[in-house]
Amino acid sequence: MRRGYDCRQMKIILANPRGFCAGVYMAIDVVDQLLEICPDEPIFVYHEIVHNRHVVQRFQRRGVRFVESVEEVPDGSIVVFSAHGVSPEVRQLAKAKKLLSVDATCPLVTKVHAEAIRYARKGFQILLVGHRHHQEVVGTLGEAPEVMQVVESPADIPSLKVDDPEKLIYLTQTTLSLDDAGVIIEALKRAFPQIKEPPASDICYATTNRQMAVRAIAPQCDLVLVVGSANSSNSVRLTEIAMNMGTPARLIDDRSELKREWFVGVQTLLVTAGASAPEDLVHELIEELVRTHGAEVEQHDVRHEEVEFGLPGSLKSLMRERGIDPEGRRIVRGDEGSRLREWFGAHNIPFRIVDLTVQGTAVAP
Ligand code: SF4
Repeated sequence: MRRGYDCRQMKIILANPRGFCAGVYMAIDVVDQLLEICPDEPIFVYHEIVHNRHVVQRFQRRGVRFVESVEEVPDGSIVVFSAHGVSPEVRQLAKAKKLLSVDATCPLVTKVHAEAIRYARKGFQILLVGHRHHQEVVGTLGEAPEVMQVVESPADIPSLKVDDPEKLIYLTQTTLSLDDAGVIIEALKRAFPQIKEPPASDICYATTNRQMAVRAIAPQCDLVLVVGSANSSNSVRLTEIAMNMGTPARLIDDRSELKREWFVGVQTLLVTAGASAPEDLVHELIEELVRTHGAEVEQHDVRHEEVEFGLPGSLKSLMRERGIDPEGRRIVRGDEGSRLREWFGAHNIPFRIVDLTVQGTAVAP
């Protein structure tokens, strides 16, 4: 029996970090700010702004239109490029249609694009480790399609066409599982011992930290719930990591997908959220679980994050064109710790924070 808890109650551990990363805050804020500064103009977003059903539906209810092709956007309109980035071909098409393009690509995705451009110019062939159909990989691949090949698994390696093994580098999608990427990279190094590594890991800080938290906490739990959408790469990876560690895991968009049978025999539950999942969905889930299981909640802090991105230059330019000074505007994250304590207090739910970090540790990309 768990000490300190009624055996009928469940213990819920909230992983921290979880949920929105700096890139998602920025991308969502870009659309929010456009809705505010251009209230009478239609706003189009190329692809889902971030891979979360609720985020997309909330914007749709405010009139934002999501398109899968720039051709669908009327000439001269405002179009936002999503956090996952786009290929140069999409940018050129937008230019040809005289669209007002606002780029909400995460700077950490842009960094991988810049590496692809730089190494292609130096005459390298590039092996891009990632999921072939993911929007981010499609965008990065578009930077130098003639010298890039996608590697999804070690099984792809025998069919790679490499001209000069000394002029070969690998790059990766930002949201891969560290474990899976490690297996592929090791296989690439065995096949091409001279392959060059990217200057710094392409798997982003947010992906790394959320995976690290699941790895640290999941082994003490009977079940892991990941709040996120099925097309969110980093959310799916969190679910896989928990399962690989031997803890059953479920990916849910929200509390409406909970099934009573999942909780039979569950005494300790880990709740986390992918980088594109809004925190209010986590709160609603906790509320439901406390109502049905009388749970007590602990947040386990595994890493502290202090990464923030500024407004994209293209949004600042649009603001200036509309006579708005961008200097007074910034992306504000607020004090999440205080908000969390307030929320639990207001809902009368027992809550405490367990700090598992080395004090003062801040993780930079
Ligand atoms: S998951 Fe990483 S790469 Fe993707 S938007 Fe967030 S910070 Fe950027």
